Amino acid sequence: MNGMTNPSTAHVMKVTERPPIVMADGHGSWLRDTEGREYLDFIQGWAVNCLGHSPAVIVETLRTQAARLINCSPAFHNERMARLTALLAESSGLDRVWLANSGAEANEGAIKLARKWGGAHRGGAYEIVTTIGSFHGRTLATMSASGKAAFEPLFEPKVPGFVKVPLNDLDAMARAISDRTVAVMLEPIQGEAGVIPAGDDYLRAVRALTRERGVLLILDEIQTGIGRTGRLYHYENVGIRPDILTLAKGLGAGVPLAALVASSDAACFEPGDQGGTFGGNPLMAAVGCAVLETVNTPAFLANVRETGAYLAERLGTLATSHGHGEVRGRGLLLALALTRGDSNKVVTEAMERGLLVNAPRPDTLRFMPSLTVSRAEIDEMIRCLEPCLP
Ligand SMILES: *Cc1c(COP(=O)(O)O)cnc(C)c1O
Repeated sequence: MNGMTNPSTAHVMKVTERPPIVMADGHGSWLRDTEGREYLDFIQGWAVNCLGHSPAVIVETLRTQAARLINCSPAFHNERMARLTALLAESSGLDRVWLANSGAEANEGAIKLARKWGGAHRGGAYEIVTTIGSFHGRTLATMSASGKAAFEPLFEPKVPGFVKVPLNDLDAMARAISDRTVAVMLEPIQGEAGVIPAGDDYLRAVRALTRERGVLLILDEIQTGIGRTGRLYHYENVGIRPDILTLAKGLGAGVPLAALVASSDAACFEPGDQGGTFGGNPLMAAVGCAVLETVNTPAFLANVRETGAYLAERLGTLATSHGHGEVRGRGLLLALALTRGDSNKVVTEAMERGLLVNAPRPDTLRFMPSLTVSRAEIDEMIRCLEPCLP
């Protein structure tokens, strides 16, 4: 118990439905509210807290860097920005990195970069092919790029120039690419849509197709990147490499940090085209360095694959014994398809029992624990979830 009283939430702008609890502190896989109730957290800030809540390495990094240099303005290089961009370039095989504060901002940058590239190399073409069901963020352009049905009626008129095709339909993709196209933009696993994977063969074929047609491939790995699927970047599972890669979520382990990473051919921004007051500030960049140094080791990533396989197996057994559907996803980004009932009710009941899971759609539960989650915590999650299943 921390003795805090519940603060009023009256002045919080209501942009989403939130349960009537107020979170106060967290450690590892556990969160605690102001009334002292504990929750086993399999949401982790939407696949953000890749090392769990308040991990020692990030606390120490923030403490040390804050005492040294928090911000020197984007007008100057700083040592942590130099280091993080080098780590990202080396690990991705892409040469140029621009640091930002959110996934939407990185994707907005990717869209601008592709348009600039289209202006220079494709006779002014600016269309980007995206997929139905995709989610790329909540700025006006990234909402326009997203293939989320609920976004369609909102904030008209949208930013023009996005053509949407069904995921995993290569013929539709091939037909959608024209002289007006500059890029294809994909999530390798559609996260917000309910953990819908692009097939490995499909991803390889899209890579070949974009090369053949001379357009860029943008992979939005904001949810799948930074070890979430058992490799540092999901595209390594498939044996391809995009021209442009966007990262956020796990890259900051809970702090606002994102990256737009591009091949030197695609990286055609000139001074004045792109920027941002907080982008690349040493405090956040230091966290990104600590995250990559922790996650990008063979042992850490092998452990994610093993823990992911264990979670998938436990979910599979649970689904079979209760007559539910498939387990989808990769690594520690997994979903369980329900064959009956409403996943939102499961989420509410689980929360009452002290378990946090997410319902991206009414027939799907999503699991995105810390990459450091233990088998004992997975067992505890299954034990809590079982009585909540319809
Ligand atoms: C979360 C997410 C975004 C948006 O990131 P923000 O940091 O919320 O702006 C974009 N794309 C994907 C795939 C995401 O999961």
